[in-house]
Amino acid sequence: MKAAQISIIVLILTGCAAAMAQQAAPYPPLTRPLVIKRVPGAPIYYTLGAPGIPEKSNEGNTSNAGFVVTPEGVVVFDALGTPSLGWNLLEAVRKVTTAPVRYNVVSHYHADHIYGLQAFKDHTSSIVIAQERATEYREDEETSDERANQRLDQRRQALAPWVDENTRVVPPDITFKTQATLNLGGKRFALLYAGPAHSASDSMMMVEPDGVLFAGDIVQNDRIPFMNAQDVDTANWLHSLAEVEKLDPKFIIPGHGVPSTRAKEAIAFTRDYINYVRAAMSQAVADWDDFDHAYANTDWSKYRDMPAFDPNNRGNAYRIFLELERSQFDSSKTLQ
Ligand SMILES: [Zn+2]
Repeated sequence: MKAAQISIIVLILTGCAAAMAQQAAPYPPLTRPLVIKRVPGAPIYYTLGAPGIPEKSNEGNTSNAGFVVTPEGVVVFDALGTPSLGWNLLEAVRKVTTAPVRYNVVSHYHADHIYGLQAFKDHTSSIVIAQERATEYREDEETSDERANQRLDQRRQALAPWVDENTRVVPPDITFKTQATLNLGGKRFALLYAGPAHSASDSMMMVEPDGVLFAGDIVQNDRIPFMNAQDVDTANWLHSLAEVEKLDPKFIIPGHGVPSTRAKEAIAFTRDYINYVRAAMSQAVADWDDFDHAYANTDWSKYRDMPAFDPNNRGNAYRIFLELERSQFDSSKTLQ
């Protein structure tokens, strides 16, 4: 065969490969591309979700995720809220490095952080790691932090076409209890259980020597957090925030809201909000006030104009009201 013929065949084959790569986007395309940012001075990247709740206008892109590149492979933290978003995150990894994705560490099993795992499961051999209570998400829907199937049905409506009948929950391959360490390509990844707080399985990932903390939903910045789930534990959440502060990260990437070099401020925002709602509701519980009355009489002006106030705040207050009522009942029981 002549050289010219060979090069034509090579050209055709390359063309086919390119076409296949184009077709390989196996999920409905996004109309708003993911924006990837880099932590200054570190091979660590993150995406920034929209401030509201998942809906068609933001295509479900409401949480933050990120990845750490090492010569031996990539560690991804969280996977965003649709398979399409997960696919775009994977494509972003591939633009930066040819190293394989080795691990997907998950902050907690809530839809806005995990539906993107499907893209990694289907197109890489990455290992999914989460805290052991993450398995409750599917195995024990009655007591889990949100009912997995019910949520999937809701998202198929709210996030069509990006969440569809092919969307599935990818369970963890490996779980840990309180702490785990990954060593990869000269970096140390400390996985730390920080729950139950926002959910049963809340975990964080500290990347050393960079001092970058992926905080999951334990820390949310300039946005009203979601707290209206059965296993939210704000007393323990406050305890976890104190622990996060001790880690003294140089850069913090919260589960929602703005990443920052001023970790203390982001931590303080979350703590102040929890304390504010707890203070308002504990007064109501102490006075045997009913919830509607207490909520209407609380001054919410400090938070009213923040993203996600309308969908989240009332439910948060109610959940905390119940938590405080329960703890009052528990303590009166131990007094008897
Ligand atoms: Zn979240």
